[in-house]
Amino acid sequence: MSDSSTHQPQAPREVEILIVGAGFSGLGMGIQLRRQGHESFAVIERADDVGGSWRDNTYPGVACDVPSPLYSYSFRINTEWSRMYSPGGEIWDYLRDAAREEGIEPHLVLGADMLEAKWDAETGRWFVHTSNGDFVSEILVSATGHLTDVKFPDVPGLDTFRGSLFHSARWDHGTPLDGKRVGVVGTGASALQIIPELAEVATEVVVFQRSAPYVRPRRDRAFSESDKQLFRRDETTVREMREVLFWGGDYNFAARRLLPSFLAEARAMALRHLENQVPDPELRAKLTPNYEIGCKRILASDVYYPAMTRPHVRLETSALAAVDDTKAVSAAGSEYELDVLVFATGFETYDLPSSRRIVGRRGQNLAEHWGDNGMQAYDSVAVAGFPNLFMLNGPGTSLGHNSLIYMIETQVDHVMGALDWWRASGRPPLEVSQDSEEAFGRELDRRAAGTVLLQGGCSSWYLDPRNGRATLSWPDFAHRFRDECATFDPAVYASTKVLAGE
Ligand code: NAP
Repeated sequence: MSDSSTHQPQAPREVEILIVGAGFSGLGMGIQLRRQGHESFAVIERADDVGGSWRDNTYPGVACDVPSPLYSYSFRINTEWSRMYSPGGEIWDYLRDAAREEGIEPHLVLGADMLEAKWDAETGRWFVHTSNGDFVSEILVSATGHLTDVKFPDVPGLDTFRGSLFHSARWDHGTPLDGKRVGVVGTGASALQIIPELAEVATEVVVFQRSAPYVRPRRDRAFSESDKQLFRRDETTVREMREVLFWGGDYNFAARRLLPSFLAEARAMALRHLENQVPDPELRAKLTPNYEIGCKRILASDVYYPAMTRPHVRLETSALAAVDDTKAVSAAGSEYELDVLVFATGFETYDLPSSRRIVGRRGQNLAEHWGDNGMQAYDSVAVAGFPNLFMLNGPGTSLGHNSLIYMIETQVDHVMGALDWWRASGRPPLEVSQDSEEAFGRELDRRAAGTVLLQGGCSSWYLDPRNGRATLSWPDFAHRFRDECATFDPAVYASTKVLAGE
C-alpha cells in the first residue's frame, strides 16, 4: 500500500537563526540565545549526538591538554572535573549535560548534514538543504569546527592493507589490540596520548615520526573529593584557577613572539623533560626536534617518553611512505609487518568543512570567494559577500597557547551584539565589505609574520600549504582577541542593498 502523503516534500522549517554544528561553539551559541530569550532557532548536526571533537575522538588516552578548570564555558563552571586534565569522555558528558540542562535539545536536529546553504537575495534569507530536511533562516551561524574532517596522507597501497586500518578520530573499538603489532603514523597531540596506551597492550608498537614534537611536563593530578567539595561550596575558587591558568597561557605567547629569553625558557623546559625521561643519548637525539619550539603545537605528556624507551616500542624516524599487504614501508626504506595501522595524521585544516557548501550573494561558495589566498573573516567572524553569516571557530581563531573556548565565547558575544542591533534596526541584511575583510586578513598576516608559526622553521597544520599564510590562527595574545573582536560595530557592517552597488 502506498501512502502518497509520505512522499510529499516537506516544507522547509523556518527559523530566525540556524546554527550548523553542535560542538562547543554551536552549543555555546544556542545556550546564549536561549538564556537571552530567543526561541526561534535550530541547531543542526550531521552526527547522531552533540559534542563535536569530544564525540568523535574516543581513542585510548583521549584527554584535553588545556587544564580542565579553564576548559569549560565561563557561564557553566564545572565543579566536577576528575582531574586537572580530564579525559575526553568527561568533556563530552559536560557538553551533553549542557545541551540537556540548558534546553537546547528541543532545538536540535541530529543526522542533518548541511549539503548546501544558499543566500537568497530576493527574500534576504538563507535556504539550507540538509540530509534531514530543509530550513530557511534569516541568520546562519557556521559552527562546524576546524579539526573535524580527518586527513590521511597520500600513501600508495593503503587499500591493500590486510590488517585493520583507521584514523585516530574514528577509532575502531572492535579491533583487538592485545598481543598485536600496531603501527602509529604521526607524533602530534593525538599520537602522544595513544602511544603510551598501546604500549600497555600491544606486543610491538612502531611509531612513524616525520618530525619530532616538543613535549613539556604535564603535571596532571586528580582532584580529590575535598577539592571538589571546595569547588561546589565556592565556585569562585574555580574562577580564580581559571584566571591563573588563562594568564599563564597568555604569558606563553611571548615565546611565540620570538622574545629570546621566553623562547629559551620554553625550549629549555622541554629539552630538560626529554633529558630527564630518556637516558639513552641515541634515542634522545632521534626525539629532539629540529625546529624552534612553538612552531608546531607544544605537547604535554609525562608518559610519552617513558613509553618510547620500552623495548617493544620502535621509533622509525621517517614518514610512512607505502603500505603493501601486511607491510608498512618507511621513507627510509624500513619494512614493518603489522596487524593494525593507526593514522594519527590530523585534520583538513586550511579548508573548513562548510566552505564548499555555503554559497553567498555573488553565487560563489566560501572556498571560491577566498581562492588560493586562503580563508579570512572580518573580526574572524564575517565574510564579504555572505550577508547574515557568522562563522564561529573558523579563520583566525586557532591558538596554541590558551583555551579555544575563550575564543568561541568571544565570537558568540560578537554575534549576540549583532543580533541585538539587527533586531532593533529593522532586520537589514548585514555584511562586511571586501575591504574590511581584507584589511583584517592583512593585519593578522602582519602579526603572524613576527611569530614562531612562520619563523620557526617547520611546516604545520596552522599554515595554508597553498600560500604559507597562517589563516587558521589568531597570532596574538588570547586576551587581545576579546579586546578587538568581541564587540559588534554596526559602522563596519553595511546593508547588502548598499554593497550590491559595489
Ligand atoms: P596533527 O597535530 O596534525 O599531527 C599529525 C601528525 O601526523 C604529525 O606528526 C605529522 O607529521 C604526521 N604525519 C602526517 N603524515 C605522515 C606520514 N606519512 N608519516 C608519518 N607521519 C605523518 O594531528 P593531531 O595529533 O590529531 O592533532 C591535531 C590537533 O588537535 C592538535 O594540534 C590539537 O589542537 C588538537 N588535539 C588536542 C589534543 C589535546 O588537547 N590533548 C589531543 C588531540 C588533538 P609532521 O609533524 O611532520 O607534519
